[in-house]
Amino acid sequence: MLQIVGGAIVAVISAMALGVVLLLVISDSAEGGEGGGELTAGSLKVGKDGVPAEYAGLIQKAADDCKAGLPAGVLAAQLKQESGFRADPGKSSAGALGIAQFMPATWKTAGVDGNNDGRKDPLDPEDAIPAQGKMMCKLLASAKKHPDYSGSPIELALAGYNAGWHRVEQYRGVPPESFAKGETYNYVKIIMSNVASLTGPDGNLTTGWTKPVNGPLGTPYHQRGGAWSSGVHTGIDFTVPTGTTVKAAGAGTVKTAGKGGAYGNQVVIKHSDGTYSQYAHLSKISVSTGQRLKAGQKIGLSGATGNVSGPHLHFEIRTGPEYGSDIDPVAFLRKHGVKL
Ligand SMILES: [Zn+2]
Repeated sequence: MLQIVGGAIVAVISAMALGVVLLLVISDSAEGGEGGGELTAGSLKVGKDGVPAEYAGLIQKAADDCKAGLPAGVLAAQLKQESGFRADPGKSSAGALGIAQFMPATWKTAGVDGNNDGRKDPLDPEDAIPAQGKMMCKLLASAKKHPDYSGSPIELALAGYNAGWHRVEQYRGVPPESFAKGETYNYVKIIMSNVASLTGPDGNLTTGWTKPVNGPLGTPYHQRGGAWSSGVHTGIDFTVPTGTTVKAAGAGTVKTAGKGGAYGNQVVIKHSDGTYSQYAHLSKISVSTGQRLKAGQKIGLSGATGNVSGPHLHFEIRTGPEYGSDIDPVAFLRKHGVKL
């Protein structure tokens, strides 16, 4: 906790004592970053109000070791929620231990000796964080096999981490608010909403985002229907005529630009917080792979290429570059100050 200075240390400790509600208030009011000291390691925001420097490398490595595309920011947000980044927050009422709040029985099967000191210790972040990453990675891989479940793969993995994967199977998605007094439901919600505050260089995470096109919302996120290969709409549609200017929703680097099968001409942009945005059915693409973009910069023109019933912009926010890693784009944009 040395990286937390002044009054903030008091605030964090009292928040831990009082639980979730205060933590949210604090993370929401933890603006700033002036005065320096904010470094970035990969996509994590390190330092005051972000990820403690001593854990950033461990978290980033745990994420990088996962081939299923696990964002470091998700692991960081979990640790913040589980323990407030404390190696030993004390035994929880349920008996959970350490920075990642492993239950002893779970640790028996999921524990690892991350630092090769001959011990698997849930109170040692060098063991607990790699174990958390491994467990989340496994859950994420399972989640990706169930595009029909309600919730994005990351959300399903988080629900599995909190309640056990069998609960996700039972509810075919994130368990509803009625399950366990909403604990799992709220766990997923809080973590997803805290990812942005723990990732990326400051600035373009909370500001600088914009609507990708000037037009009204059409088909909403997660609408069910036979038109989509997964049976559910993985993005949102903006109803605009062909030839409308399409802009990068946030600053980033072009990951792909070109033909995308059913998506027609598409652009995928990687953002500094580890998320990706996708723009589909374009009539014209005016950027190329690797190009760096400012928020609001023109990337092409809307159209009706690919599998469409008429011209519109299909827009997704994803936790990885590929199809299937989508999260709710409306919630994401609103969180970043965009009015929809
Ligand atoms: Zn669409």
